[in-house]
Amino acid sequence: MIPITSVAFGEEEEKRVLEVLRSGMIAQGPVVAEFETAFADLCQVKHAVAVNNGTTSLIASLQVLDLKPGDEVITSPFTFIATLNAILATGATAVLADICEEDFNIDPTSVENLITERTKVIMPVHLYGQMANMKPLVNLAKKYNLTIVEDAAQAHGASYQGQMAGTFGLGSFSLYATKNLTTGEGGIITTNDDAYADRIRVMRNQGMRQRYEYVMEGNNYRLTDLQAALAIPQLNRYPETLQKRTSNAFFLSESLSDVEGLQLPKQLEGRKHVWHQYTVRLGPECAMTRDQFIEALTDAGIGYGIYYPKLVSEYAPYLDNERVQAHSTPVAANVVSQVVSLPVHDHLTQDDLNHVVRTVLQALKGKK
Ligand SMILES: *Cc1c(COP(=O)(O)O)cnc(C)c1O
Repeated sequence: MIPITSVAFGEEEEKRVLEVLRSGMIAQGPVVAEFETAFADLCQVKHAVAVNNGTTSLIASLQVLDLKPGDEVITSPFTFIATLNAILATGATAVLADICEEDFNIDPTSVENLITERTKVIMPVHLYGQMANMKPLVNLAKKYNLTIVEDAAQAHGASYQGQMAGTFGLGSFSLYATKNLTTGEGGIITTNDDAYADRIRVMRNQGMRQRYEYVMEGNNYRLTDLQAALAIPQLNRYPETLQKRTSNAFFLSESLSDVEGLQLPKQLEGRKHVWHQYTVRLGPECAMTRDQFIEALTDAGIGYGIYYPKLVSEYAPYLDNERVQAHSTPVAANVVSQVVSLPVHDHLTQDDLNHVVRTVLQALKGKK
């Protein structure tokens, strides 16, 4: 079986985790601080604040903006449910814009059509590891005085025209077990804004600046040193991890370039894709339906993912929710029924890749 994700740690992780265990200080401490510095370095950003998961990091990124009920956050309906849940957790209203055909990320034209007096935030989701089309979004943010909060949960180290993910306002990353970098559960917020970073640090720790002196309403959003110890060695070798993911993606794209009806993921001009997922789209001209295709993958022992089976607004809790504004999003509605993610992670062997290619070609071209 070739899994869709694979987590493997080495001696370096064991050593760092053991050091924390033996130190007896296992909550948030110096290792979290070390990890934050290293992550800020990766993102070429002034501040990185680690928290206990990626949903928390989205929530904190919005809470720091003091959103009021009725305030609107425009985001993509084609995302993991955490994006929507985080918006709702802050009391704001989620407004769902359409996505682009070429990268499945939020469409700036659709965003502009949905801006109202109440819009406060644009929240692009850098889906599958490729950043959204940021330039027009930045222009809209300037024009309408909005803040950009990036859901960069899948995009550690991605960039757009040379500017790193997480540097456009507030950036939110997940460190969940399946992400490119992981602490099991974890998240981290990035920003170049001193005041936001300071307030999130205080918020993370019960609103406490000094012991038992509470300066704001806070929470416990802390990551632990045990978790941070796991991430530091992964960060050190992240350039190699990205190289492997990228060369895997390029190999798949070269090998599958000539299949009728199959749209392959493209790294768009000026964007550095970090290949969290390698997602193909089966158009109507494909030789098989998506259901038949995933059955062929399963029969061949190949793990796959459907990210995501429905638009977030289509699930029962959000259908009649007055704080979820689902507009007509024809591109998203179409794409959601056609995507399949194939394994691209850095533990694939050449044999694994050949097997994936052979299976896909056989299924969609009838080739042996
Ligand atoms: C993983 C993910 C999150 C949430 O992260 P958790 O760490 O699982 O809470 C948010 N948004 C997107 C797009 C994700 O993929």
